[in-house]
Amino acid sequence: MFDTVLIANRGEIALRILRACRDLGLKTVAAHSDADASLRHVALADRAICIGPATATESYLNIAEIIAAAQLTGAGAIHPGYGFLSENAAFAEAVENAGLAFIGPSAAAIRTMGDKVSAKRTMIAAGVPCVAGSEGALPQDEQEVRAIAEAIGYPVIVKAAGGGGRGMRIVREQHALMEAVSMAVKEADRAFGNPHVYLEKFLEHPRHIETQILADKHGKAVWLGERDCSMQRRHQKIIEEAPAPGIAREAIAEIGELCARACLTIGYTGAGTFEFLYEDGRFSFIEMNTRVQVEHPVTELVTGIDIVREQIRIARGEPLSFSQEDIRIQGHAVECRINAEDPYSFRPHPGRVERWTPPGGPGIRVESHLYSGYTVPPHYDSLVAKLLAHGATRAEAIGRMSGALGEMEAVGIATNAPLHGLLMEEPGFAAGGFDIHHLERLIEGGLLEGRGGDDD
Ligand code: ADP
Repeated sequence: MFDTVLIANRGEIALRILRACRDLGLKTVAAHSDADASLRHVALADRAICIGPATATESYLNIAEIIAAAQLTGAGAIHPGYGFLSENAAFAEAVENAGLAFIGPSAAAIRTMGDKVSAKRTMIAAGVPCVAGSEGALPQDEQEVRAIAEAIGYPVIVKAAGGGGRGMRIVREQHALMEAVSMAVKEADRAFGNPHVYLEKFLEHPRHIETQILADKHGKAVWLGERDCSMQRRHQKIIEEAPAPGIAREAIAEIGELCARACLTIGYTGAGTFEFLYEDGRFSFIEMNTRVQVEHPVTELVTGIDIVREQIRIARGEPLSFSQEDIRIQGHAVECRINAEDPYSFRPHPGRVERWTPPGGPGIRVESHLYSGYTVPPHYDSLVAKLLAHGATRAEAIGRMSGALGEMEAVGIATNAPLHGLLMEEPGFAAGGFDIHHLERLIEGGLLEGRGGDDD
């Protein structure tokens, strides 16, 4: 069994994984790019190894280099974090073939659930409700594509089977369909090397609700409640919370049970998330993430379960140490994603952090790799911190978050903290239960107008 874990990621999640390994008494190897030698986890790991230049395709996405780094440093397992190679079945397979443990599901399970078309097919077979859509990828024939869209009913959304948010296009009328499809095919091919696209009914006012699951290698799968991730901009989550306000616990439990059971059917092990759109009291599955998610600490705060530690324990072949009946949801948790970007124009704003002062106090948790003097490189995702607040009630959690946002200082870079500050005060957010278009409606309605010097 492995005693050393190579961390094939960067930023806050690399640090998060390092801490979980430390708790378990495991050694760590930080595999980092040239641009990331000064990251916090690189200094804290037992060993560090450079796997290539700043460009991700030559470092964090370089399968051969990462496996060689594990072999060179004597690591017995690789944790992929999120993003990069975390949902790449070929990577999981290469890790397994090299005789190393992949901290995640099997390559076969990633293949089944990573492709959105096959994931939906699998979920329908498992009795999980899905958004109405095309059965499988779209055919070449134009007439057939038109007929499929007619059958679903406009508006429809064109989505890439390979996932990743890119390539999604909303089509409201028939005349715009074929152009949207052919553009989505091109974009998906370029972005994921998979040109397959499919159609779904476009839901006008859904909420984004997801279920966290954990499944071990001994036939046990549990669900850890849900998260509401409806605060989004351009389909990217910016605030997440648990539990989801205003949804009956029985309905959540029913979906949770179905997801846990589906894991056993698929032979899925590790941590995973089933994502649903929730509209008019109905859940519809959209996709599964076969990895740890950015927003996992929201669930950790309300359940007291360390999801990353469980992931590693499962990969070591250990059974889950708790059962479904042991899981209790306590209080309410909110997460704000802090990005290095202008809060009004959303332009990335990397650079040197002259001073970093994280907030603190009861119920506050900060996941960040920032420190005073650290330079945020321009090459990667702009997420630099996750601020979490936990309270006995939703109102208490939001109040604590407002205070924490006011305390936080990241002098030298711009962050979206002021936008989060506005949202904590916003009546729709305070009421809870808003849909995925809420933030964009607020922005269109002038939420940011007259603020900042960079608002174009
Ligand atoms: P990604 O791979 O980017 O995570 P998803 O399939 O999870 O792609 O969709 C991302 C977001 O896009 C969802 O959270 C939701 O906001 C929106 N979305 C996806 N499918 C639909 C749909 N059928 N109707 C309305 N919005 C959708």
